[in-house]
Amino acid sequence: MHLKTITELLALPNFHVVSVLEQNETSIHLYVDLVEAVAPVCSACGVVHHAPVHSIGWIMAEDLPLAGKRTFLYLPKRKARCPVDGKIRVEQFAVLRGRFTKRFAEQVYRLTSIATNAEAGWFLNLDDETVYRIDRGILEELAREKLAPVPAPSIMSVDEVAWQKWHKYVTNVVDIERRKVIWNHDGRGKSTLDAFFTALGQEKSSQIDAVACDGARGFLSSIKQHAKNALTVLDHFHVKSYLNDALDAVRKEELRKARNDKETDLANLLHCRKKFILMQGHPSKRQRDVLEQLATLNDTVYRAMLLKEQFLEIYRADSHKTAQAGLRQWIGAAFSSKIPAFMELAQKFFRKRHFILNFFRMRITSAISEGINNKIKRLKRMAYGYKDVAYFLLKIHQHCGLLNPRLST
Ligand SMILES: [Zn+2]
Repeated sequence: MHLKTITELLALPNFHVVSVLEQNETSIHLYVDLVEAVAPVCSACGVVHHAPVHSIGWIMAEDLPLAGKRTFLYLPKRKARCPVDGKIRVEQFAVLRGRFTKRFAEQVYRLTSIATNAEAGWFLNLDDETVYRIDRGILEELAREKLAPVPAPSIMSVDEVAWQKWHKYVTNVVDIERRKVIWNHDGRGKSTLDAFFTALGQEKSSQIDAVACDGARGFLSSIKQHAKNALTVLDHFHVKSYLNDALDAVRKEELRKARNDKETDLANLLHCRKKFILMQGHPSKRQRDVLEQLATLNDTVYRAMLLKEQFLEIYRADSHKTAQAGLRQWIGAAFSSKIPAFMELAQKFFRKRHFILNFFRMRITSAISEGINNKIKRLKRMAYGYKDVAYFLLKIHQHCGLLNPRLST
């Protein structure tokens, strides 16, 4: 192939291919140079100096593959004395980002937005550390550009997620209408959510119409203080998970008893692999059989299942008033069940009844919070090789928020 043709294919502004240094089964090595000798841009201060060239160094940079072969460019880099700090500095090229062309780095970031870092690295033949450095560098730049000022939501939800094994949490704020995470921070509770409202500013905070959350005290008090005109809704998604937790506590307790009493049939049905059947919103035929069998063997589990079903029925109410009546009735039923986990839950729901019922004033869909929560869980499972919480926060923005190349506008 003519060098001119390769130069055209490469299409790197102001560079031309001087020679093909090597070409084999898997890679191409090209020596490139400037077409027009422009004055070098100093890598220390970013300014063009007209100082005489001190010496020339070489740099190798990986570029996008040519015809499926990994492509490496060898570029001469001029060195000159920087008048600002008086040191010999190498020039910088606008087309490069470290040991890669910018367009190659861009491809890494596009891949890490849809796959794990490990998968992206496998695909591009890069080690984890390299993928991490490129990915993080681009995300940090995009964050400076896109995450400040914080986009103002009118309906938002806030949720915390446990991070790694060390009981650390990060808090995410979701714009329900944009369906995106718009802000996040490590930590949880009042002080963390306060930081969001502070970043948003007093005026925009007071313009928020509704906030969905898990009903935790810290969040509630922060919302009350800053989002003065917002309706606070205990998210349907969290209500469901509270019910599931109570049901699971009952399952565990009954399993313990069944094992003590050597009731093997029952113990088998309550085994933790069956746990998910109890949690199912729409059990399959086979799952329903298990549930029916369970109902005949264990009255407590059966009644707990009914309580959960009854609660979810409340959400079919068409008015605040009907829902209120339903909730009052449910709290009564839960107390009289004498099942400790549900009595406790009844207390919680009584305390938070206004927030639960606010749903019937503003029906905030929980599907978005639930979807984002699942995505974040998957992010954690995929173990992107987060070195620290700051990177994890960026990855959440990349996969669920404004730093996603597929979703960005
Ligand atoms: Zn300089």
